[in-house]
Amino acid sequence: AKPRVVVIGGGSGGGTVARYIAKDSNGAVDVTLIEPSRMYYTCYFSNLYLGGFWDFDALGHDYGNIARTGVNVVHDWAVGVDRDAQTVALASGESIAYDRLVVAPGIDFVEGSVPGWDVSQQSKMPHAYKSGTQAQLLKHQIENMREGGTFCMVAPPNPYRCPPGPGERVSMVAHVLSQTNPTAKILIVDPKENYSKQALFEEGWERHYPGMVTRIGPDFGGNNVEVRPDSMEVVIDGQVEAVDVCNVIPAQKAGKIAELAGLTDASGWAPVLPSDMRSRMDENVFVLGDASAQGAMPKSGFSANSQAKVVANVIRGELTGSRIFPARYSNTCWSLIATNDGVKVGANYEAGADQIESVSSFISQTGEDAELRQQTYEESIGWYNGIVADIFG
Ligand code: FAD
Repeated sequence: AKPRVVVIGGGSGGGTVARYIAKDSNGAVDVTLIEPSRMYYTCYFSNLYLGGFWDFDALGHDYGNIARTGVNVVHDWAVGVDRDAQTVALASGESIAYDRLVVAPGIDFVEGSVPGWDVSQQSKMPHAYKSGTQAQLLKHQIENMREGGTFCMVAPPNPYRCPPGPGERVSMVAHVLSQTNPTAKILIVDPKENYSKQALFEEGWERHYPGMVTRIGPDFGGNNVEVRPDSMEVVIDGQVEAVDVCNVIPAQKAGKIAELAGLTDASGWAPVLPSDMRSRMDENVFVLGDASAQGAMPKSGFSANSQAKVVANVIRGELTGSRIFPARYSNTCWSLIATNDGVKVGANYEAGADQIESVSSFISQTGEDAELRQQTYEESIGWYNGIVADIFG
């Protein structure tokens, strides 16, 4: 019988690893991808959708080409993993056996991390931090906000998916409001001392949206916040603020199935070896993308895709005898601040003794000219088209 690989989660990491193993092994490996949704809506560029630069439909990708590569795509939830028997249980009641398992379920939210908020409140105070309809809801709320109203973002503590994501979102919300509701205000409540691309965002907000954005960091109570969805209030260090739209981005942990499978530790993330993303809990299991704790790589779609290619190469090598190459990883995160004003941060990574380490890095500079910023923005569009083709075929 053919060796069997099961992949849980058809996102940036899981989609890539399934497609690459099937494509490169030419049918020698039996690959099953378990993913409940029939369409994957990328979180990347969902901020550009909020800003009016990208269509919602352009965020959506189906699994047809992955299936045509020879992957058995099963639209269902994985609800348990029996690591002794090497089987995955599905919500339908079926069970699928594996020789190697890849777990790539993305994130879940830490319950109680923002007092007053849980997922039952996500219609009143959306997170828009997992793919799909939440971004549509948040856009609707922004467009219907009262004149001169306040948009509040409760930003997450580290580590979380897409470090520059909240800053890019504020930029895109400011872009819309400066055109449609110029007396509106944006309030960021942030538990972190500092955040990714901070100097670039602050410079951009001052230039494009002067006076619109205020950030309350931990020194002023940004780490002591409670929300009241029914009355649309945010309580910051005991002080009650009335807000009109509230985007709560809670603290995060590995997608729940990683925990159910016994792959996470006390941090809530799944520790892996830096050389190949193999679980530290089980040599037949790999965890990749946001759910993994691997070291220096940010939780991004680019990182997940890069890690997935390393995992695909290793699994194929172990199951078919093909050559295994030393791991090389890379990432770039682009952000749009205003029309044609794009910035980026990125690095190349290798396996260190204990974790993945950065070996070279780069970041856009403050004060760059408009032409360079436009080039950076255009580069990001090329990246988007390239990565979705690489994941979904
Ligand atoms: P995901 O892509 O989330 O995929 C996980 C999949 O697993 C999902 O499809 C889910 O349905 C499935 N799943 C979960 N549980 C189960 C289960 N039990 N059974 C079966 N399936 C399951 N990254 C970038 O590189 N560039 C960007 O510009 C960028 N911008 C972003 C902007 C925003 C606003 C946000 C929120 C994120 C952004 N990201 C960006 C981050 C990027 O979206 C994530 O890091 C990336 O999607 C992680 O890939 P993943 O495969 O780990 O998880």
